[in-house]
This record gives sequence, structure tokens and C-alpha cells, in this order.
Amino acid sequence: MTRYHKLTTEAYSPGQITLSKRKGWLHSFLYQLFPDRCLFCRDIIPISSLNPLCSTCQKNYSAGGRICPNCESFFREEPPCSCIVKSISLEGLFFAALYDQSWRKLIHELKYRNRRAVIRPLAIWLAFEILNNRYCKPDLIVPVPLHPVRERERGYNQAALLARNMAQVLKVPWRGNLLFKAINTRSQTSISRYDRQSNVRGVFKCRPEKYNKSTILLVDDVYSTGATMKEAALALKNKTGARVFGAAIAYNPNIRAIQRTGFYAGLEKW
Ligand SMILES: [Zn+2]
Ligand SMILES: [Zn+2]
Repeated sequence: MTRYHKLTTEAYSPGQITLSKRKGWLHSFLYQLFPDRCLFCRDIIPISSLNPLCSTCQKNYSAGGRICPNCESFFREEPPCSCIVKSISLEGLFFAALYDQSWRKLIHELKYRNRRAVIRPLAIWLAFEILNNRYCKPDLIVPVPLHPVRERERGYNQAALLARNMAQVLKVPWRGNLLFKAINTRSQTSISRYDRQSNVRGVFKCRPEKYNKSTILLVDDVYSTGATMKEAALALKNKTGARVFGAAIAYNPNIRAIQRTGFYAGLEKW
């Protein structure tokens, strides 16, 4: 819970990248008219804060980190999980926070109510998670695609907006057309955790472009069972030859994974 608080400083600069807000008189003027507001409760937050939550909401959120997509063990730092075998499609999953009622509401508004203004602060937050972990240095960012019919209905793919903004922050390229969804499946949230793997099997296709010795960061909004992201990572890895890591705004863990790893046992809300 302490690491994200570094974002309240005006700028954070690990290595070559500086996370900071836009400055200048225009930004200050706009802030007077439209001050930055907490993502959850919409209280006004200071102009210099990179943290998109007010101090009250900061106290109530559960910090992110990295999990092993295979056994769902939690890691704060290196090394990789000992259970990972070379054939795994997704080598690690970074997330900004644990999924709870506040996140459920926010992500619903982002996906279905066009609340796209939250993308930028969330992208900075998630980019910070990648930088702070120092375990993954992406060469390319790729969003988990929507089927074109679904994207037309919604008007945008929130994962692609997130990928584009993270690419700006991390100063790496992004590609929205490398990976695509060839089959329009039922929504993963409408079916049980156990049926999700078969619902997405073989639905992602990747253009045959080589990214050998590269690391691709695959981006989505929420990671639950990981079925979608693992399947997308498999298509990417097979066609490009790259290592693939995942990043999601919120992680919604299986209660059995929490019990098995015990990591969240001490946190109040679990
Ligand atoms: Zn708040
Ligand atoms: Zn593991």
C-alpha cells in the first residue's frame, strides 16, 4: 500500500522516464475551471498530485503488484515464480489494484458509460506499476482486442485507449492492429469462471510479424481468471516469438487462489 503513494510527489523519475503532470499556465488555468477529481468519490485533488485518488480513498484501496498467471502467487519484486515453465504464454501479470466495489463501478462507467476521462490517470498509475517493479521492460504495447462488431457498438476499445496512453508514458510504441479477435464470443462476465477458457479458445489471431528477443506488454482493463489474456498472449507469442507480459488495471482474484497463497489474508477487506 505504500508504493503507490510515491505518485503523490510531483514527478517520479526512475531511469530515463519521468512521470509528471502537464505544466504551464494553460494547465493551471484549466485546473481552476476543471480541477482534477478523485476517480472514486470525485473530491477535488491537488493540482500537483499524480495520484488520482483523494486521501480518503487512498486509505481504502488495496495495492497492486505482480502475480504469476500460472499459480497466482504474488510477487513484489524479482525473481520469477519457480512454477513457471518455458512454454507458458503469459510470464507475469501486473495490476494497479485489487478489484472491489469501487473498481467495479469505475470500470463499468469506463466500458459502458463513455467515462473515458479516467483513462489517462489509470494509464499513468499502471505504467508506474511496471516501472516500479523493474521486472519487465516492454518494447511494444498491445491491447487485448475487441471483436470489430463489439467495438463498433461501444464506439471504442477501452484496452486500446489504455495501451495508447501507457505507450506515451513509457515512451515505447504501441500497435492496435497486430492482434485481432476473429470470433465474436459471449461476454466473459456473463459465463462461469469454469467455462471461460473454452469460450475464448482460438478466438485471437495475430499478424505474422517477428518480434524475436522483444518483450510485448499486453493490456486489458480487468484480469479475473486470465482466460482471455492467456489466450491472447498465446496467439502473440506463437506468431511473433516475443516474451509476453500482461498488465491490467484491476485484478479480481479467485477466492481459492487467495486462500492458497495467503497473501491477502491479512488485508481487512478480504
Ligand atoms: Zn476519493
Ligand atoms: Zn507460479
